[in-house]
Amino acid sequence: MSSRFEQLADAVLAGTAATPGDALAVLRAPDTDVLAVVAAAGRLRRAYFGNTVKVNYLVNLKSGLCPENCTYCSQALGSAAPILKYSWLSTEEAVKQAGAGISGGAARVCLVASGRGPSDRDIDRVASMVGALKEEHPGVEVCACLGLLADGQAERLRTAGVDAYNHNINTAESNHHTIVQTHTYADRVDTVEKAKHGGLSPCSGLIAGLGETDEQLVEGLFALKDLDADSIPVNFLMPFDGTPLEHTWELTPLRCLKILAMARFVCPDKEIRMAGGREMHLRSLQPMALHVANSLFLGDYLTSEGQAAEADLEMIRDNGFVVLGSDADRARTEPADPRIRRRGAGTGLVPNA
Ligand code: SF4
Repeated sequence: MSSRFEQLADAVLAGTAATPGDALAVLRAPDTDVLAVVAAAGRLRRAYFGNTVKVNYLVNLKSGLCPENCTYCSQALGSAAPILKYSWLSTEEAVKQAGAGISGGAARVCLVASGRGPSDRDIDRVASMVGALKEEHPGVEVCACLGLLADGQAERLRTAGVDAYNHNINTAESNHHTIVQTHTYADRVDTVEKAKHGGLSPCSGLIAGLGETDEQLVEGLFALKDLDADSIPVNFLMPFDGTPLEHTWELTPLRCLKILAMARFVCPDKEIRMAGGREMHLRSLQPMALHVANSLFLGDYLTSEGQAAEADLEMIRDNGFVVLGSDADRARTEPADPRIRRRGAGTGLVPNA
């Protein structure tokens, strides 16, 4: 008999949308059912995205000193996290940084700036960066992430060649007031709507592990479905020391896997991205998550280091996936030679245990 999750995948593939009850059942699946969950969600992933992985690359154009008070963010003004703080990169530097990600296989570059939202001068600045970037890399997609948008700014970004706009709702409306007070959930939704109406592909996602309940995770996910976000980054809280959420550790690797699977069941044809915090929270289950998610950020994040970009690409290849837009055999590497043991038994050195 097929599992409950296989039956759910059959129904979703046949056009019946997953319900909040289905989503909760995935999230609360016993750990012993996790392979069944991944296998079923993986069928949806393969149906819509085959064996491709979309690789995205972040460039932090302006880091830290944000006047907003998002509790999860190391760039908020009150954050004592010892992150890099700098003002706008030059166009030349931004193009150089983006170029590194593109050579690593990124199909999309995400140009991000800290702050409540862009001034019109900031829009001009980003427009000129995008012009220069697209001149050098005409095929690359550009996503901007500049905060809350004012009227007309999405249209100006679109005219400048920006393809997508990221603005995460981060959490359920019912939980939003607990994670930030300087702007509202409605402000965030308004920006996603402005981006859509301005012709930009909406990218909006969640951060899991902020103190939300299971029901609130489901609520946030269905809000993203209703917003019709084309891409959904699923972040896992990185609790930086020096931020109000330091020492907040609510996630386990298996829970992260179930969260991604739940996102796949609810939004089967959308780009589900295993985003910030995947290394620290999915840990050894990252490769399994690729069978559910179809997208990731290559290399480093805005203020923290990710695993080596080469390790990301190796994980993609080893699991039988290909980087979207790349030659399947590109950069295929030989395994490392066996390393001769020179510690433990028969030596005077401590064993590897
Ligand atoms: S608005 Fe953005 S950069 Fe500023 S504190 Fe919030 S998440 Fe961080």
